[in-house]
Formats: sequence, C-alpha cells, structure tokens
Amino acid sequence: MSNFRPAEIRRAIRQELSAGPFDVLVIGGGIVGAGVARDAALRGLRVALCEQDDFAFGTSSRTSRLLHGGLRYLAQGRLGLVYEASREKRILHRIAPHLAQPLEFVFPTYRRSGWPRWQLAIGVTLYDLLCGGRNLGPSRVLSCEQVRQILPGLRTEGLTGAVAYYDALTQDARLVVDTLRSAHRAGAVLANYMKVLQAHRTADGWQAEVQDQQTGQTLEISARVIVHAAGPWAEQFPQSSVRLRRTKGVHLVLDRRRVEIRPDPAALSYAVVGACCSPPATNGGAPADARQPGLLPSADACPAVVLAEGSRIVFLIPWGDRLILGTTDTDYTGPNEAVCTQPEDVRYLLAVANQYFPDAHLTEADILADWAGIRPLIYTGRGGPSDISRAHWIRSPEPGWIDVAGGKLTTYRLMAEQVVDEVGRHLGRRLPPCRTAHLPLLESAEEARWSGILPPPVSAEAVQYFCQHEWTYHLDDLMLRRTGWHYYLPDPARTAQEAACWLAQQLGWTAQQQQAELAHYRETLPKPWAPSPGTTFEP
Ligand SMILES: Cc1cc2nc3c(=O)[nH]c(=O)nc-3n(C[C@H](O)[C@H](O)[C@H](O)COP(=O)(O)OP(=O)(O)OC[C@H]3O[C@@H](n4cnc5c(N)ncnc54)[C@H](O)[C@@H]3O)c2cc1C
Repeated sequence: MSNFRPAEIRRAIRQELSAGPFDVLVIGGGIVGAGVARDAALRGLRVALCEQDDFAFGTSSRTSRLLHGGLRYLAQGRLGLVYEASREKRILHRIAPHLAQPLEFVFPTYRRSGWPRWQLAIGVTLYDLLCGGRNLGPSRVLSCEQVRQILPGLRTEGLTGAVAYYDALTQDARLVVDTLRSAHRAGAVLANYMKVLQAHRTADGWQAEVQDQQTGQTLEISARVIVHAAGPWAEQFPQSSVRLRRTKGVHLVLDRRRVEIRPDPAALSYAVVGACCSPPATNGGAPADARQPGLLPSADACPAVVLAEGSRIVFLIPWGDRLILGTTDTDYTGPNEAVCTQPEDVRYLLAVANQYFPDAHLTEADILADWAGIRPLIYTGRGGPSDISRAHWIRSPEPGWIDVAGGKLTTYRLMAEQVVDEVGRHLGRRLPPCRTAHLPLLESAEEARWSGILPPPVSAEAVQYFCQHEWTYHLDDLMLRRTGWHYYLPDPARTAQEAACWLAQQLGWTAQQQQAELAHYRETLPKPWAPSPGTTFEP
C-alpha cells in the first residue's frame, strides 16, 4: 500500500485556490494556458490555473507534433508568421531539447503538381533564411535518384526530384506537462479536473466560480486578472471577445514497416529521444553532442515525407517503430468533447498515402491508433479551412479579462510572453523581463528520465511516478497524455489492464472504480473502420 494520499493533495489544492487572491487566474490547461502560468509565475506573480478535464486534454494532445515554421504558410505568403514560428522552434529546441528532435522532411515533386521543384527550392532556401540562417539543418534539392534511394516505394511516374528541409518533432502532451511542472516549481497553483463555471467583476478584479470535477464541490477563486486560454472552448463565457472557426484534424498511427523510408545518407540525423531508447549520455549535465544539446547523432534516423494533396500537404512522420499519417483539415461544428475520426477521414488519409506509395496497399486494418483534434482558429469569415491564418489573438474586452486564442503549439511561448506583458499593464506593475526563452524546461535528470518523444517503458515505477509527480487521476491521463502508451504500444488494451492495477494501488480505487476506468478507456481504442460496401482506399 502506497503512502501517497491523492485525496489529501486534492483537498490542499482546493484550499490553496480558495485562499487567493491571485494576481492571475488562467482558464485552460492546454499549451497556451500552461505557457502563461509558467511565464507569469517566473516573473513573480501569484498564479492559479484551472483545467476542466486533464491537462492537455484539448487540442494540445492531438497535434501533428511538429515544431515548425510552416512551409505551407510560406507558400501562402505569411512571412511574418513563418519568421515568428521559426524563431520559436529554435528557442524550444534550446529550452527543451528532449522534446524537440530535429527532423528532416523530404518533399517529392512531380510534373504538373502545383508544387514545382524550382519553386520549392527557393521556398526552402527562404525558410532557412527566416530561421536567421540557423535552421536545425540545411535544406537542399534532391535528384530523382536520391529520392528513390530514400523512398524506394514512392510512385516514380512524373517524379522530378525533391527538396529537403528541417523542422522538429515533439510530443505535444509532454510539452504541456513539462511546462506546467516548471510553472509549479515557480509557485503556480495548478488543478486539473477543475472547471471554471462563471466569472464576475468585483471591486478589485474577478471572482470565479469553479467546480471540482472529481468531487462535485464548488469554490470561489479571486484574482486581479483572468487569462482565458480555453482553445476550442473560447466562446463559452459572455466576457469572451473570441470568434472561432473550428476545423478538425485527424492522424492515424501505422506500423513503421508498412512504408519503407530509409535514412538519408546526406542528412544530419538524430535519434528520437525518449525513455524507450537509451537516454542521451550526459556528463554531469553536459550534452553528449555539443551541437545539439541532449540529442545523439543516429545512423538510422529517417526523414519524414511530405505528400502534396492539391494545395494541402499531408505528412508521414516516423516516430520510433511507428509512422504518423496526417492530417485532415475540415470544418467542424459538433461538440468539442465529441470530436473523433470518421470513416471519411480514414479514407482520405489512406488514399493520399496509397497514391504516393501504391505498393503499400494501406487499409484500415493497418491503423494501430488514431486521434482527432480541433484547431481553434480565429474566425475571419472567408477562405477554406486550410487558408485560415494560424496567427494568434490577444484582446482585453473588459478590464482584467484577457482572451488568448489561435496560434500554434510552436508559438505558445511567445503568446504567453505577450499575454503576461499585458497582465503587467493591467496590474499597473513593472514586471521583471520574461525568462522563458532561456530557462530550461526541465530541472533534474529524474524529470528527463520520464519525459521524451517516445513513451517510457511500461512499469509500476512509471505509474507511481506519474501519479505522484504529474497529477494523474485516471487511466486515460496515464495512457494517452503522460506516457503515450495508448498510441505507441502494439497491444495497449493489455497494458491498460496492467496499468489499471498499479493505478488502483496508487490512487486507492475500489474494484468497481477500476472496472469503470477500464470501460471508459476502451472507448478510446480504434473502432473497426468498416468501409461501406464497394469503398476502396486506393486513389
Ligand atoms: C490536427 C491538428 C494538428 C496540429 N498540429 C500542429 C503542429 O504540428 N504544430 C503546431 O505548432 N501546432 C499544431 N496545431 C495547433 C495547436 O495544436 C494549437 O494551436 C494548440 O494546441 C492550442 O492550444 P490551446 O491551449 O489554445 O488549446 P487547448 O489545448 O484546447 O487547451 C484549452 C484547454 O482549456 C480547457 N477549458 C476549456 N474550458 C474550460 C473551463 N471552463 N474551465 C477550465 N478549463 C477549460 C480545455 O479542456 C482545454 O484543455 C495543430 C492543431 C490540430 C487540431
């Protein structure tokens, strides 16, 4: 029996929240809320953050997991956005190298495709320049022969070659949790499963009514400023100035061997960092590879592949033993909680992949896992889903109420910095300068042991760690967001069974609670993607 007392910890959090007053109350524990909490706490403010579900439950655990400037935005002429995101990509690589693996992208080009190689060659050169000439690796142009060596199964008819450029792979939910842990160390009071029901103005700020989703208890939190960072839920409060265009994006996880991608012999390559593979050797904290702190050059790191589909692009991203195929971009009007992968999403993604790799014959039987997320884009009233700007929005419709929405995972740190500057103005205080671009996200080797792009090995020790240090209350929290076992392991249902026993020991569940957790978790497993009669996934 463990000495860990989650109910007592929870009670203490409720007491701290009620004790207030806080300088800032952040609504939403996605990447944006986490970034704001970290920055504000590091600048000496009293911070509380409430998340209605688990941390990273919303969009921030359902992304393409890329830290990128956005080559596609370059094609749309959004140079400012690319410059901003490219700078942030490098900053994240500096402060969180364990969650920013440089990754080469190979973009094959075809005759009459709308993405000519000469144009892309200029594009990727510009892309590197917008990184201040210091991208994570140099872009270049590839001949047909070079492309065939890397992608032996690629359709060659009409192939004119490829371009290659660099971005970084991350693990989105881990980025949120590690950011929150840093905020917590700096003094922020954080609560998942704590929903903000409503808020009203008082003489010296705001009073929010919140409800503990674990116990049903309600409490009041007072704060001088509210930062509203609710992602796709940003329209729920009457105070909010945000109008969203919500679009859905789906990703599928496949076995890595289903599409052959070989290492690019000319590329800088780095091993994916995570507890599954050997952790990077460090010497008293000194990075093993001085050029790329925390990352080891690897002989077998393979590039991601960019598949053009009209004016859109779809990625095939290597992730350890898996491949991530995504994403779609379609308008979404349903409830945020109900977003899920539909047969037409599966059909679209498999058809794009099969069009480029005809011998792979990918079918729905190849899908090991999937996720669907909602992009909280700022409503502009025009354009298709993929044309909407990914720029962010910070507005203060009422004194002491700050809305922050839109943006990208990659730019969250910058969004947070700008929001906290705004908080300082509302408080009428000169705040210390922002330090988040320089302070590492992790503080100890112990933290680094449990966080990375690949999931940690399955063990009772891991489960104990995530319960005692990372606010894990449910099986889903563990399987989907703390570890990613759900998306990566060949038989996640079996692991869930084992993990539920360990969680029961840590969290004091009854047999009935354990069964309820397992039943809830099973709903997240991929459904059989039964195609309608006569449907084919071939292009
Ligand atoms: C398919 C897809 C792929 C993407 N890929 C990338 C990518 O590769 N790279 C990139 O840079 N960006 C990417 N993005 C964009 C990026 O994911 C988002 O911009 C970012 O995650 C938004 O974070 P957020 O914190 O604003 O929202 P969220 O992560 O949704 O967080 C908002 C949180 O607020 C909580 N909340 C809502 N209401 C309340 C309440 N009343 N009380 C308490 N809590 C509340 C929600 O539960 C939620 O957890 C992608 C997005 C999608 C959908």
